[in-house]
Amino acid sequence: MGLKVYKFGGASIKDADGFKNVKQIVQAAKHNKLLIVVSAMGKTTNALQEVVRDHFNPEKDSFSSLSTIKKDHLDTLNSLIPNSDKWQTELLDTFVEIDWMLEDEPHEDFDFEYDQIVSVGEQVSSKMLNALLQVSGMQSTWLDARDVILTDNTYREAKVQWEETEKRIKEKTSQLFEKADIIVTQGFIGASSENFTTTLGREGSDFSASIFSYCLDAEGMYIWKDVPGVLTGDPRLFDNVTKLNNLSYREAVEMTYYGAKVIHPKTIKPIQNKSIPLHVKSFLNPEGEGTVINNTETTAYPPIVVFEHNQTLLRIRTRDFSFVAEEHLKEIFELIADHRIKIKMMKNTAVSFLISIDNDETRIINLLEKLQKSFNVTQEKDLEVLTIRHYNQEIIDSMTKERIILFEEKLPNTIQMVVKPIPTMKIKD
Ligand code: ADP
Ligand code: ASP
Ligand code: MG
Repeated sequence: MGLKVYKFGGASIKDADGFKNVKQIVQAAKHNKLLIVVSAMGKTTNALQEVVRDHFNPEKDSFSSLSTIKKDHLDTLNSLIPNSDKWQTELLDTFVEIDWMLEDEPHEDFDFEYDQIVSVGEQVSSKMLNALLQVSGMQSTWLDARDVILTDNTYREAKVQWEETEKRIKEKTSQLFEKADIIVTQGFIGASSENFTTTLGREGSDFSASIFSYCLDAEGMYIWKDVPGVLTGDPRLFDNVTKLNNLSYREAVEMTYYGAKVIHPKTIKPIQNKSIPLHVKSFLNPEGEGTVINNTETTAYPPIVVFEHNQTLLRIRTRDFSFVAEEHLKEIFELIADHRIKIKMMKNTAVSFLISIDNDETRIINLLEKLQKSFNVTQEKDLEVLTIRHYNQEIIDSMTKERIILFEEKLPNTIQMVVKPIPTMKIKD
């Protein structure tokens, strides 16, 4: 039997019961070689992000927000493995890295400081899972992902150096698999060639699992979620969604690229390259079939709806009423790339260029400052990008009933629109 890669996200290990459930899933796997990638517990990454923000704000006490996170982890560990001095010390030693950073003045580069602090979430959760598997009698060992995933130093969005990463993953895991049959490692994190911790972008643990699967030629990759599989829409937004039993890599790439939050968009490509099947399964119902993503030829898909919220539309016009020409676009795109902004939709009209981007306040302010030197720019916030794959008129009508369409683009399989939700009017009685 080959090797399998399992990925458990924050929702699956949000508390002690979650960890126990994960242990049962691992126990049931009865697999001779298993590599497990874990995210931080529950909403820990958001909480650590607040610690970083507080550290940069002289009016805030970052130690107090950190102490809640520490307590949460220690309480969970205590309830999993009572009175374990060894593992408690191990956790506290890991958190000490944050204490040191908070005692110092904040680093001049926010993104650098962010990665050093936020990455601790994955380190502690993976140590806790490894501890639990070991005390339950399993042959498990811990791998520091930073020893194998080599990246550049684009903090908060580091790029993987594939060749060296592949070499290191192969070497290190083959050593570890000589003594253990389960390796527990972290999602989301890597390290630069100077040995500083980097992160791969929010929600990046799915991508980490894909990196390990690719480099180890895994027989299958399994991501365990709080949903039965990939659905025709986000169940938090719609009631009448159904499970897709089988998806092609192509379809999964399209869905996640347009913003389907169930899988990180960078996950699919590496495993597609090696035809590794990706199973999306429910940790609440491990026996369920889930969704299989592979090279299927299936083409008969039902309509699939994806919403990208929190969008800002920029209307960019030339100052001299001239048409928006290629040299303008060149300047605009260069500025957008420099500010690491991602365009979700765009449209070129005679006198303006429209782009819909994520509403990242700081990045937009910096971009506008530069853009306004050459262009007139207006912005409109609180918009959505709505994408419907395999659309029909009925689904378009039902999705746009309470929305104003600002602009749209229709391709044979995909319709995309930038829309503005109509605030629900209160009718006086
Ligand atoms: P993880 O714990 O692995 O980080 P996420 O919370 O990132 O998991 O992803 C799972 C969530 O994705 C689900 O709870 C669901 O609300 C959301 N989601 C959005 N779109 C879809 C979809 N098309 N199918 C299934 N889940 C979806
Ligand atoms: N813990 C990280 C985050 O919340 C990575 C992940 O969960 O995928 O963004
Ligand atoms: Mg996630």
